[in-house]
Amino acid sequence: MPQIALITGASKGIGAAIALQLAADGYDIWLNYRSDDAGAEKTASEIRGLGRECTLLKFDVTDEQAVENGLTPLLEKDVPFIVVNNAGFAKDSVMMMMDSRDWNGVLSVHLNGFFNVTKPVVSRMLRKRAGRIINIASTSGETGVAGQTNYSAAKAGLIGATRSLAVEVAKRNILVNAVAPGFIETDMVAELPVDEIKKQIPMKRMGTPEEVAGVVSFLCSEKASYITGQVIAVNGGIHT
Ligand code: NAP
Repeated sequence: MPQIALITGASKGIGAAIALQLAADGYDIWLNYRSDDAGAEKTASEIRGLGRECTLLKFDVTDEQAVENGLTPLLEKDVPFIVVNNAGFAKDSVMMMMDSRDWNGVLSVHLNGFFNVTKPVVSRMLRKRAGRIINIASTSGETGVAGQTNYSAAKAGLIGATRSLAVEVAKRNILVNAVAPGFIETDMVAELPVDEIKKQIPMKRMGTPEEVAGVVSFLCSEKASYITGQVIAVNGGIHT
């Protein structure tokens, strides 16, 4: 029986690339998304084209009850070996102009989303004494970015949660790491001044979702069996 990977926010962008990479690595996929039915169906059909199963899980990761309703019936039968907490978005503005909705919304999707999805799975991973949890952080959580106090706080918080959970579960052979992308070509950065940004990146280009997915694949592999509590940057050298 193939093992299972649960990926949040996988209807498009980095999450979809991770789902496809892990399917290529031999995992069946539980694919969460919030609203993009067409994107989720497209990713699912590509996963099935690779000969793997894909179960679509449409829920908002910030809604604890919806997460429970979505995951519990599946968790009664199977426990994923991998959870990738990828769902997220930015809502940028300088702090002076930021309203509490944008502050709370961005914190909630990254931090409450991580908690709501990870808690029910990790308790079952502990019984199996096996698992990998990967949290998609950001360069913004490691360094300051004007206009992103909410997003930086959320991603720095996610890095803190990664490090603490890693220590809690290490002796049960569950490895918890974060991947911190820089600027990656997805819808999330579509409105940014791409040409200006590229000038600031030492490699002078944006990254691809597949370049992030490759690192997630490595962290989930046997080759990474002694790595936990780490933050691996995938950023073209923009922050080291
Ligand atoms: P994206 O293309 O906009 O995709 C975001 C995904 O997250 C979509 O599948 C979306 O679902 C899902 N999502 C958003 N809110 C959700 C919620 N409340 N519940 C469930 N799913 C939700 O963005 P991306 O660039 O791939 O970003 C993926 C992750 O990488 C995010 O955590 C982001 O912060 C991080 N990241 C991105 C970059 C970058 O440069 N792109 C850099 C660093 C970190 P629907 O579309 O179905 O609603």
